[in-house]
Amino acid sequence: MSSDVGATTAKRGRPPRYLLSSIAVCGVCGASTRIGSQNAGTRPAGSKEPIQRYRVYECAGSPGGTGFHVSMRQEHLDEIVTDAVLARVSDMDFEIPRTLSGDKDDIERRALRLQIKADYIWLNRVKEEAEKRVQPELLERQEQIVFPKIEAAYNRLDVLENLDPLVRRFRRAESALIVWEGMTLVQHRHVVRTLVIPRIDPVSEEARGQRGPNLDRVKLIWRTHSE
Ligand SMILES: [Zn+2]
Repeated sequence: MSSDVGATTAKRGRPPRYLLSSIAVCGVCGASTRIGSQNAGTRPAGSKEPIQRYRVYECAGSPGGTGFHVSMRQEHLDEIVTDAVLARVSDMDFEIPRTLSGDKDDIERRALRLQIKADYIWLNRVKEEAEKRVQPELLERQEQIVFPKIEAAYNRLDVLENLDPLVRRFRRAESALIVWEGMTLVQHRHVVRTLVIPRIDPVSEEARGQRGPNLDRVKLIWRTHSE
């Protein structure tokens, strides 16, 4: 018996099966989305072939309101959001949203960030110098000194900031994709939910009938570090 089974299943009913159901929201009414299915085109007259169907995220509406304002192919939205999240966490300046709110003294954190920036600037200078003199060992020696310092500063920041432990795994990862691929769907959902609210907007007149993921229809509302 494992004690963490409960953490990987939904509170009630079945565990989630899709990345963004109830996470993505409708761009018309703000309601959350659920998984639905749609016909892929219409059956040619006289054909007996079953109509292909595909999965979509669709507006679930709100109590007393209508739904179905927007829908988007599930794989398309998953792809757009996954790509954007991985790009976001791979950014050097990425700051992980805090799990807990309530900010205290910011001075130490600001100092740590400045120190990290200064360390990187220093290493860049050493790199240029090492290249100019064709002495790569110059850079290696400095990196051995400075990298542990940077690492320690980051760890201290993590402690000060109560960072989300799952999202923390991406920080300074060699490859965000490898970290992502090592996670379960429940963890993917947690990471997305911590970082962003994807909003599906209605199809514009000119984009009607267009195939493939339509980035213009997806607005990513990032949760900022200060929230
Ligand atoms: Zn809606």
